[in-house]
Parts: sequence; structure tokens; C-alpha cells
Amino acid sequence: MSIACTLYGPMDLRITEYQTQQPGMHEVRVRLGAGGICGSDLHYYQHGRAGIFAIRAPFVPGHEASGIVESVGPGVTRVQPGQKVAINPSHPCGHCNFCREGRGNLCAQMVFLGSAAIFPHLPGLFREHFLVAEQQLTPIDESGITLGEIACAEPLSIGLHAMLRAGSVLGKTVLITGGGTIGCMSAIAARIAGAAKVIVCDVQDRALEMARAVGADQCLRTDQIEASALADTADICIEAAGNVSAVNTCLNAARRGARIVQVGTLPPEMLFPANQIMSRELDYVGAFRAHQAFDWAVEAIRTRRADVRPLISAQFPLAQSQEAFDLALDRTRSTKVQLVMD
Ligand SMILES: [Zn+2]
Ligand SMILES: [Zn+2]
Repeated sequence: MSIACTLYGPMDLRITEYQTQQPGMHEVRVRLGAGGICGSDLHYYQHGRAGIFAIRAPFVPGHEASGIVESVGPGVTRVQPGQKVAINPSHPCGHCNFCREGRGNLCAQMVFLGSAAIFPHLPGLFREHFLVAEQQLTPIDESGITLGEIACAEPLSIGLHAMLRAGSVLGKTVLITGGGTIGCMSAIAARIAGAAKVIVCDVQDRALEMARAVGADQCLRTDQIEASALADTADICIEAAGNVSAVNTCLNAARRGARIVQVGTLPPEMLFPANQIMSRELDYVGAFRAHQAFDWAVEAIRTRRADVRPLISAQFPLAQSQEAFDLALDRTRSTKVQLVMD
């Protein structure tokens, strides 16, 4: 038997057991290396839902993971037992209109591991072992790159996808609201994309220290400065905090004609000065998960062009998931908390 971290409802996390399966055609059995607890996992843990997706039956979260290949099914050629792998949680259908247009993250038949979007829920990656389609795995043979770093490929892909949605970033000033994992990954991504200046805003010192550690040029406590100090300063704003005041910071900081990319999950209904979008001709776009940016993220981590090590705050054995989730909830003490197998 293997163990899994299972959510039964809000604040009801249990370690459960399940029968391990053998891989079928083009499937690979992977042992968990490291699995990062994401903001959406914390939403499931605290509220039993993340955005519009609610838990309707016991559910195993987890979509940011790395692992080690244990065994391979018939027909598998990309990986072999013993290899470290990055795991893309996304499995688009490949033939719908969105997939054919290169926007597989919008696939209507998407199977996304660790999301309660589909019912019956498929279990996510906070499990000792799991089966994954071969096409979702990328082997990482570099010995110096840790399983913890490889597990950061998914959140980095979110930052890189946000840059894709931002358009040309070269030479621009990019302002990011939120210095959590996604904000910091967006800062790394903005530098990779050629931003001239990266500004990160938050209301906590720890978050801003992290942003600085991964290369942000300017880190600001938005609760301690005058809004006018930021007005009309950014060509691109990345909303990665998920709250109303952060959206207002973006609207204020955006220059005329600037682009705002919403990456964070905002409250279901909120008031904000929407006429700014019209009168200052702002582009307000969304960024949802990632598509080709996953491969870019794996490459950036494999070469350490993206050094995500400062962001990994703590690792806990899978059996101590409760402690790990509780630490992850406390932003004053953690950025990325990961579950690992020893
Ligand atoms: Zn995530
Ligand atoms: Zn599709």
C-alpha cells in the first residue's frame, strides 16, 4: 500500500492508503520526488474550493511535482527507471480547436492533475506513487539539479506564460503585485523575457526579500508608500496577489496603453475602477495555467538560468502533510513548502 494526502473538506486533511497500480501502455509509474504546495492547494485546504472549482468527494491535491521513474509500461521510450523527471500536470486533448491553435491550456477536454475541475475527481500528485502519461514527463539527467528545484517547473511555467500573455517584455518596466511564489516566478520570468526593470509590490517584508533574492530590481511595501509614487510607472503589470487592492495598484501603476495580466485568483465578485481600462486604453488580459511555457520552465531550471532555490522554504515528508500545509498557510514564515518522500 502507498500513502496519499487526501482532502475531505475544509481543514480536513487525512493521510490515506491506496493500492499502487502497474503502468499501462505509454504510462509511467513515478515515485514522488518533491511536490510543492500551491496557492490553489491552500484554497482547497482552507475553503474546500479554489476559484470556481469545488471539492465534491475526497480529493488528492498537488500539481507541482517532480519524481523518479520506477517502472514503465509498454511502448514508453522517453524515460527509463531511475531517471529524475519533471511532471507536466497538464494533459490537453490535442485535437480540439484550442489545442490546434496552440492554446492547449484552454482545452475544453483538459485533464489537469490535482484540480477539482473535473468530476469524478482524478487524484493529484501528493501521493507516494502515481501513473502519468509518458508525454507529460521530461527527464532531467543533470546530477546537480535537485528534485525540489525540478518541482518548481510548474509554478515557473505560470510566470513564463504570464509573460507570453504580456506580449513583448524586452526593455519594458514590469510591475508585479505579490511577492509569493507566483509573483517571484513572474519576476524571474520577466528578467528572462528581457524586462529593463522589475518592480515587486507586497505588504510583507519576507515576500519582498524573496523577490529581491530572485532578482527584482525594486521591492516596495505598497502599504507604506503613497499611491502617487507608483502612478504611471509600468508598461506591464502582473497581478499575482489575488486581492482587490493589488488590482488597484496595477491600475494605478499602469501607464496609458499598458497591459495588465491577471494571474491571481481574485474574489468571486469585486468592485474596481473599470473605467480606467477604457479611458487610459489599458489591455486587461488573463493568464491561465501554461502551455508551451512548461517546456521553457524545465529548460530554465535544468540550466539554472532560473535559480529557484531561494524560494524553497521547507520540505516535509508526505506523512506530515498537515504540518506542511499549516506552514504554507503562513506567508510570514514560508514561500514554497514541499512534500517529499525520503
Ligand atoms: Zn500551482
Ligand atoms: Zn484540446
